[in-house]
Amino acid sequence: MYEGVVQNLIDELGRLPGVGPKSAQRIAFYLLGADPADVKRLAAVLMEVTDRVRFCRICGNVAEEDECRICRDPRRDPTVICVVEEPKDVAAIEKIREFRGRYHVLGGAISPIDGIGPEDLRTRELMARLADGGITEVILATDPNLEGEATATYLARLVKPLGVRVTRPASGLPVRLHPATWKPRRCSIAVASRPSTPSPMTPTVTSPAAGW
Ligand code: ZN
Repeated sequence: MYEGVVQNLIDELGRLPGVGPKSAQRIAFYLLGADPADVKRLAAVLMEVTDRVRFCRICGNVAEEDECRICRDPRRDPTVICVVEEPKDVAAIEKIREFRGRYHVLGGAISPIDGIGPEDLRTRELMARLADGGITEVILATDPNLEGEATATYLARLVKPLGVRVTRPASGLPVRLHPATWKPRRCSIAVASRPSTPSPMTPTVTSPAAGW
């Protein structure tokens, strides 16, 4: 539709998640009209993240070194692991500043419709961490949707026989209380209604769903 490189730009922008053809075109023309210094800075950052950012070899979170900031922090409780789907969930939980354990990022959730099975997630890496010993609790903070529940149920069945305590944020939590959108104020309400057993993650209810 447009001359070579302009169309290439629109096509590339259109491949980004959540950016439809109209938005891609709007962003492309914004960039074309923007200060070249700003655009070059954006391009440099894109190049930099491509070169420097990798995934933590322990937990799968984004990192600038072999291990992420959280895995390297000796003050973080190594006995509790919070399992999440994506690095953005780590960022959301960290924002609350309540959880002092460590993480394990699965890289998605089990979804038969999309052809994603347990072997496509970092399940084996999680089991290897548990096999190393020293971990006493696993919090399954996958999304409160069909895929997230299926993943949590699958992992609970794998992990429980190892004698590790398995917990899950209360089933039936409204989606807005999921890690990605947890608000500190709501968390303090959750703290008040927590069972007496202390756990490093406040918005967690320790009673697992029936059938676990
Ligand atoms: Zn890590």
